[in-house]
Amino acid sequence: MKSPIKEFFLKKFFFKIDSEERDAIRRRVMKNDHKVYMVLLPIIIILELVVLLLNIYQYGLSFDRLQNRSMLGVMNAYRGLYLFFIIACIACIFLLWYFQKKKKVFPYFMVASFFLMCLMFWGAGIALCDTVAEGGVYPDYTYLAIGLIGACAFITLEPWVFTSASLLTVVIFDVLLGTVPACANVKMDASFFLTTVVIVGIAFVSGTFNFVRRIDAIRLELKVSNANEILSDKALLDDLTRVFNRRYLTEHIDEPLDYTENGSGVIMLDIDHFKSLNDTYGHQVGDECLSLLGIAINNLIRDKESSCVRYGGEEFLIFFKNITKGDLEIYAETLRRRIEKMKVSISGGVQIQYTISCGLAKAKDGISYNNLINQADEALYKAKEERNRICYYGDISNN
Ligand code: GH3
Ligand code: MG
Ligand code: MG
Repeated sequence: MKSPIKEFFLKKFFFKIDSEERDAIRRRVMKNDHKVYMVLLPIIIILELVVLLLNIYQYGLSFDRLQNRSMLGVMNAYRGLYLFFIIACIACIFLLWYFQKKKKVFPYFMVASFFLMCLMFWGAGIALCDTVAEGGVYPDYTYLAIGLIGACAFITLEPWVFTSASLLTVVIFDVLLGTVPACANVKMDASFFLTTVVIVGIAFVSGTFNFVRRIDAIRLELKVSNANEILSDKALLDDLTRVFNRRYLTEHIDEPLDYTENGSGVIMLDIDHFKSLNDTYGHQVGDECLSLLGIAINNLIRDKESSCVRYGGEEFLIFFKNITKGDLEIYAETLRRRIEKMKVSISGGVQIQYTISCGLAKAKDGISYNNLINQADEALYKAKEERNRICYYGDISNN
């Protein structure tokens, strides 16, 4: 039987996180939680110091109450715990600052979690010492000490880290109460257990809900950003030919060309006598020829650092990075031959063929995109004198 409650819990708490989501979670920890930790940690530290001062105010620095009872062990434990607290605070602030600066999200998150664990351990230790010193009475401000640490659960990302840490601490605490001779006089009253249970409970429930809420938000964020990526890709692609449209060129036209090594190169290509092809066989056949040309171009340039733009109706620009004149000619010639050999089936079992002409140019001496395109256009104009051929700008301009 499918119970809605069971389904809710299964869906909410038993899910897998893939690596993309894990990365997004880490990025988010870095971005958002840093501020929370930076505000919360000083508050915790100040409040815990208030607890320390209250202790000193009430019992004095010499911990007479402890010495009177010959509880040197407890006094040393007190001192040790405060020393541990101070070192943990300083180390944590330094490490958080360092990992934030280095943008190392994972160590940053581990330090923050570990620090909360240390605080829990420290709080429980102090409470134990107080309880022992008071002969079983659990002073109010030790509730505060542990309560503050419990409050950290509200901001922890991984509830399981926090919950297991607090459970472990409570177990150690209870074992100590039961086994250390100095603790023999401690009465384990109901309020102590109640506090423990409430804190661990709050840590688990709030931490888990907090975590699930974040995961939901992150998943939504990922979906939106993926959808945006798809939309922006679509907006830059030409529907018919599946190469980039003019908008893509407009967006990239101001970028510097690649002059390193061999430098950039461009092929401008145009279908020969396309108007008469349209007139003879119809616009739909013309569209089919354009679509097949787009596929042929994409297949040709797949492995090369390049991009193709539909420049006009049946005119295309293919930009290559780091290409020699020889390679540019090979690409253009290969494409020209492939198109020349290609047969397009149209209705009635008829097959037609068409050809292309190409104008080639290479970027030299800091030339701009626009000038490079103009040179390719000039070369194409030359190629069109005969059609179904390629022509390199350098060759015509040298003549
Ligand atoms: P040339 O060999 O000199 O390039 O001659 P051409 O006929 O190819 O050149 P022209 O510029 O005179 O004609 C281009 C034609 O391309 C005109 C137009 O009908 C056609 N055309 C432009 N865009 C599309 C399109 O999206 N689909 C189809 N089917 N035809 C198109
Ligand atoms: Mg044409
Ligand atoms: Mg044309």
